[in-house]
Amino acid sequence: MAESDFPASLSLRRALLQQLQSMQRAGIMQIARNQFRNTVLDLTTPTESADMASPSKDTDPAVAEASHKTLQEDSIAREARSQQQRLQELKVIQQEVANCDRCAELAATRTQTVFGVGNPAARLCFFGEAPGADEDRQGEPFVGRAGRLLDDIITKGMGLSREDVYILNVLKCRPPGNRNPSPEEAENCFQFFERQLEAIQPEFLCCLGAVAAANLLQTTETIGRLRGRFHNYRGIRVIATYHPAYLLRNPPAKKEVWKDIQLLMKEMEISIKGAKLNSGKPVHNPAQH
Ligand code: SF4
Repeated sequence: MAESDFPASLSLRRALLQQLQSMQRAGIMQIARNQFRNTVLDLTTPTESADMASPSKDTDPAVAEASHKTLQEDSIAREARSQQQRLQELKVIQQEVANCDRCAELAATRTQTVFGVGNPAARLCFFGEAPGADEDRQGEPFVGRAGRLLDDIITKGMGLSREDVYILNVLKCRPPGNRNPSPEEAENCFQFFERQLEAIQPEFLCCLGAVAAANLLQTTETIGRLRGRFHNYRGIRVIATYHPAYLLRNPPAKKEVWKDIQLLMKEMEISIKGAKLNSGKPVHNPAQH
C-alpha cells in the first residue's frame, strides 16, 4: 500500500496520531517503515472485531472513539508481542552460540562468545568482523577504541544511540592474535548471523570493513570499490564502509566514512543536522580489533 493511498479521513488520522503517541509513551521512539505500514493497516484493514465495531456515519462519536481505542490497544499489544518474540528468538540463538564449539581453536581460546547487542527491532544493523581482545573480555562487540569511534558515528554522526541499532560480527569468537577469520570459521558462524537477521528483520545493514562485506556480499572487491553505493542482501539495503579500526590508523578516511553514513541517513530518512565526524589524531599502533 503506497503511503499516498492512505485513507485521509479525520478519524483515521487521529487514530494514527494517537497510535504513534501511545507507542512514543511506551518508549518506542522510532518505527520502521514496514512497522509504520503495519500500524496503518491495523487501523484500516477490516477484521472480524473491527467489522463489528466499525463506525458508520450514524455511529455515536463515543462508540467510534472506543472502537479506535480498541484497535490501537490491539495494535500496541501485537507490537509488544513482536518485540518480545524477537527478543526471545535472539535469546535462543545466543544460548546456542554460547555452547558452540564448531571452530575448535576459537572455542578453546575464547574467554566468552560475543553475540551482538542492541535493539531487537532495529532498522539498522552494523556488521563487523570478529571480537578483539576488549570484546572477548567484555562479551560485547565494538568496545575499546574502535568501538568508541563507532559510537561517535552512531551518536554524533547519525544522532542515534547505540540502543537504537544492533551491532554484531561475522564471528562470535575471537580469533587468536586478532587474525582474520578463516573461510571455514566464517561459514561455521554465518548461520548464526542469518538467524539473528531473521529475528531482527532490519531494513539496513552497514558492513564495517572488508571481511564483513566479503562474507555478506560474497565478493572479493575492496571496500574502496564497494563503498559509496547500496547493495542488496535478501531485500536488506546494504552499505559497506571502512572499519573503525582502519580509521584509527588512517584518520583521513573518516571523511569517506562520513559520506557513506550521510548516504545511509538519506536513505533511512534521518535528517542531517550539520553533524560531522571528528577527524581525530593519527594513531600509528595497529588497532586492537
Ligand atoms: S566462531 Fe561461531 S561457529 Fe565458531 S565456535 Fe564461535 S560461535 Fe561457534
